[in-house]
Amino acid sequence: MPLPAIDPLDLEICLGSADDYAARGGAMSPPIVQSSLFAFPTLQALSEAQAEEHRRFVYSRGQNPTVEALERQLAALERGSVAKAFGSGMAAVSATIIGLLEGGDHIVFVNQTYGPTLQLAELLSRFGVEHTVVASGVPDEVAAALRPNTRMLWMESPGTMLFGTLDLRSLVDLAQSRDLLTCLDNSWATPLFLKPIELGIDLVVHAGSKYLAGHSDVLSGAVIGPEGLMEQIFYRGYMLLGASLSPFDAWLQIRGLRTLPLRLQQHHEGGLRVAEFLAQHPAVERVYHPGLAAIPPTEFRGYSGLFSFALGSNRREDVHSVVDALRRFRIGVSWGGPESLVYSPQSGDPEELRARGLPPGLIRLSVGLESPPSLIEDLEQALGGLR
Ligand SMILES: *Cc1c(COP(=O)(O)O)cnc(C)c1O
Repeated sequence: MPLPAIDPLDLEICLGSADDYAARGGAMSPPIVQSSLFAFPTLQALSEAQAEEHRRFVYSRGQNPTVEALERQLAALERGSVAKAFGSGMAAVSATIIGLLEGGDHIVFVNQTYGPTLQLAELLSRFGVEHTVVASGVPDEVAAALRPNTRMLWMESPGTMLFGTLDLRSLVDLAQSRDLLTCLDNSWATPLFLKPIELGIDLVVHAGSKYLAGHSDVLSGAVIGPEGLMEQIFYRGYMLLGASLSPFDAWLQIRGLRTLPLRLQQHHEGGLRVAEFLAQHPAVERVYHPGLAAIPPTEFRGYSGLFSFALGSNRREDVHSVVDALRRFRIGVSWGGPESLVYSPQSGDPEELRARGLPPGLIRLSVGLESPPSLIEDLEQALGGLR
């Protein structure tokens, strides 16, 4: 199978431009500006900088040169105007929703949504922000959920756990006709495989902790969007929540971006090969991978390595025995690192799984950078133990 093509401009951005090197005296790696504050020659100069703290270095809870270098790369990759980096993906999610919505506003979550994002929405109901979940993601059902006070559509494509993709063009049309803000959590595809802003989405959110940093050693997040909205997110969300990214973690993520194109090509290939193996296995009822859908989506340049499958068996013990028998997949949350991981929501209450629309035999894999045949062999032995 051919590897997905990476946009040549994206390759250049991930490596850092020649101008960037020149500006730092030729240093191949950017400096880590490990400073919490920046001093000024006069009090007047300080107060001028404070008046536009979203673009001046005053205090590193606002802007920091190393963090800003990462932000320039992320904005360029998403083809957006401005990026803000955060200390985690959830910090980016929280600052976006808190920064842009008021008490009395309504937000619609489209598709299966990341659990903690929905928990945040629950918490915000205490402050008068209402929400509705349209887990199917079908545009007509989204339209039916809109209210006069709906302000934002929050989307994930593919969605969490079941990896169904959205008809983004129809949803953007719907949002524009009703004057709604649109925000897409693009952690799964990364800007290399999906460019939401080019499709008309206003804001893109990332858990940089996953593929962007990519080495299971950094927590980070980001939001990318137009200047006006980003200023609001900066002053009403980011600065007040205080979830800033440390200069060292920004540097690690800049380093991670250098290999992102190569890593994603490998995750794409490994993920598809493992998914195709599972799709023909008799113990597997269904594979949830966008590339194996009856009508594969057209707006993705490639697929990352995270997907799920359901066992034919509904027995909780069978999920545990398959997961525990795997040797090359480590058991853990999160994803996007070099090592393959396995997770199942099955450890919880079966009723709750059903309420979330998840099949009881669901197992999620994050296919890492190991050789695909060795991962397939491991799955074969683990599934073989079922009968
Ligand atoms: C992990 C994740 C987040 C949150 O990122 P953290 O860095 O863990 O806070 C947000 N959205 C999606 C889709 C994620 O998978």
